Amino acid sequence: MADVDFYLSDEQRELQRALREFTAKEIAPIASQCDAEERYPVELFPRLGALGYLGLTFPEEIGGSGGSSLDYAIACEEFAYGSAGIALGIYVHVALACSALAAFGSEDLKRRWLPSALCGESIGAWAFAEAGAGSDASAIATRAVADGNDWVLNGSKLYITNAPIADFLVVVASTAPEQRLKGLSLFLVEHDRPGFRVAGSLSKLGVRASEMAELVFDDCRIPRENLIGRENRGFLDALRTLALGRIASAAFAIGVARAALEATLVHARERVQFGQPIGSLQAVRFGIADMAMQLEAARLLCHRAAVAADRGLPHGREANMAKLYATEACTRITERALHYHGATGFMSESPIQRFYRDCKVFEFGEGSSELQREMIARELGL
Ligand SMILES: Cc1cc2nc3c(=O)[nH]c(=O)nc-3n(C[C@H](O)[C@H](O)[C@H](O)COP(=O)(O)OP(=O)(O)OC[C@H]3O[C@@H](n4cnc5c(N)ncnc54)[C@H](O)[C@@H]3O)c2cc1C
Repeated sequence: MADVDFYLSDEQRELQRALREFTAKEIAPIASQCDAEERYPVELFPRLGALGYLGLTFPEEIGGSGGSSLDYAIACEEFAYGSAGIALGIYVHVALACSALAAFGSEDLKRRWLPSALCGESIGAWAFAEAGAGSDASAIATRAVADGNDWVLNGSKLYITNAPIADFLVVVASTAPEQRLKGLSLFLVEHDRPGFRVAGSLSKLGVRASEMAELVFDDCRIPRENLIGRENRGFLDALRTLALGRIASAAFAIGVARAALEATLVHARERVQFGQPIGSLQAVRFGIADMAMQLEAARLLCHRAAVAADRGLPHGREANMAKLYATEACTRITERALHYHGATGFMSESPIQRFYRDCKVFEFGEGSSELQREMIARELGL
């Protein structure tokens, strides 16, 4: 294919090449097995850390490599190309737990946790969702009450990625319930704090290589210094932490869709029915052409949002559009990939059925399609 990624610098092309090599060697070969066993390959973390991939977007003075949002989008696509589940575990650690800590944590918290986290020696999780609070953060019921030199946490969290393997968790809790969204705060909770427990792993339809669990806080005491950022500013800080998440969600979808498209091209050439490769049948050719076009459009939207972020330009609408378009396109592309593979793609050992299962979460996670449409309409002045 012609070199249409003209906007990538030489360094970004080199980063992309190195990530492709890493993914092909370290992620893709274990993706199906981790999916089947619902197991996260924690041994990847120190290797990702040693290569600088965990610190990609963090400033150099705190152990990162000072990379851009576009660098990050490139990395997310490559990891998800190998395994969306493994990519999700990396994302939660880097873009949610470590980012919140780096942006809003005290110097002491950063010094204690970031060096090991960016080396992959400790793993983070992001605990926002609850049984009654998914899209609606104002319903968060986990309480944090100041008591002497401590905060005391009570409540529970649901659907928390990395919880079974995490050393530390960034927890969103209510410090002023009557103020709803304006009464939320962020806390760092170490996994071995008395009163905190990971209550059983949860089994899922997709992204099964990532591990997920429910959390329980039962009079869990943490020191006052474990507050991240300012009291009652947690919602705004969480929103800022999640800002890059929409670009990452788009890039994940693009990675999965690319894997599905590439596999479909191979299959369309190899699978012979009625005396000809199915790729010579016009109905199939048209469908695959549409898959490729949607993938390219998704990547352009995603990279445009990332470049706008890197240039300090407003990029809210761009990120919403990228997330919305890429995640819905990925669902369509993986559905077509499964369709053109027929029975062979439907078998458990085929990666095609994994792509089909993996992509759905990106449509409703990090702000559902409806919320993205709502925000785009608002930005258009409606
Ligand atoms: C694989 C996976 C990993 C996850 N990892 C984490 C994690 O690490 N940390 C964490 O905190 N959470 C995590 N979550 C939870 C995730 O954040 C929630 O799934 C997400 O916030 C959506 O909430 P919900 O699933 O409760 O859906 P709901 O909020 O109940 O929404 C369900 C549907 O209702 C509709 N809807 C909701 N609100 C509106 C609206 N305002 N307008 C129109 N329609 C609307 C949409 O169709 C939406 O898809 C994870 C979830 C999954 C599946």
